[in-house]
Amino acid sequence: MKTLKKCFARFETEGIVRWGLVAGLLVEEILPNPFGAYSPTGLIWPLKKVRLLAPVLPSKIVAVGVNYADHAKEFGKAPPPIPLLFLKPPSAVIGPGDVIEKPAVSHQVDFEGEIAVVIGRRARNISRAAAEKYILGYTLMNDVTARDLQRTDGQWSRAKGFDTFAPLGPWVMCGIPSRKITLQTYVNGRRRQSSSTQQLVFDIPTLVSHISHVMTLEPGDIISTGTPAGVGPLQSGDRVEIRSPEIGRLINTVGNRK
Ligand code: ZN
Repeated sequence: MKTLKKCFARFETEGIVRWGLVAGLLVEEILPNPFGAYSPTGLIWPLKKVRLLAPVLPSKIVAVGVNYADHAKEFGKAPPPIPLLFLKPPSAVIGPGDVIEKPAVSHQVDFEGEIAVVIGRRARNISRAAAEKYILGYTLMNDVTARDLQRTDGQWSRAKGFDTFAPLGPWVMCGIPSRKITLQTYVNGRRRQSSSTQQLVFDIPTLVSHISHVMTLEPGDIISTGTPAGVGPLQSGDRVEIRSPEIGRLINTVGNRK
């Protein structure tokens, strides 16, 4: 599952949602999906002629808090002794190009650029050594957070759970080593975050194993691995881009919730 470098996209064209394999500037439809045996249908489109969607519809998004030492430091905290987990609802997911909507109730909506794991097969009580076998590949997530509500609520469901607060994409990149994925976040073209999975407090196999001992991970579930230092607020009209040379680019704009 993980030896070949492959890239799976979920996209819409001609009013139909499809799965496909990306090759260069083209995407070829596959059936039924990348989570098992699949076949190419021979239907091919230029990537710029299709609308990329969030690459998966997860049954859950398991996010990891304070998993980069430099981000812990900017909040005056030490990294936790075991992974700090929280959930984001699937209803928060949007795709590439979609609008992050700021709710009027928050006065500080922050971006958090993150590398996200896409689970490939059901995982329960998995050892760290076996973890990579359960990973389909990697995508990018913006763990959008209403920072003021995170502080006042004392727990994070509302602050991180608003509709549109989980941009995902642009696709699932497979066959890349989990230890060497780099990440930069740009707001209006200005670089705000830069790090790599080498800087994670808990690495990706450790996270998959740890979480699988808490809850069963299903194909398509997302583990968002945490954000590095440099988080900051978004304003209506901003353009936020999470970039990974190994994965691709996830671009969203910011607007006000109606
Ligand atoms: Zn986060």
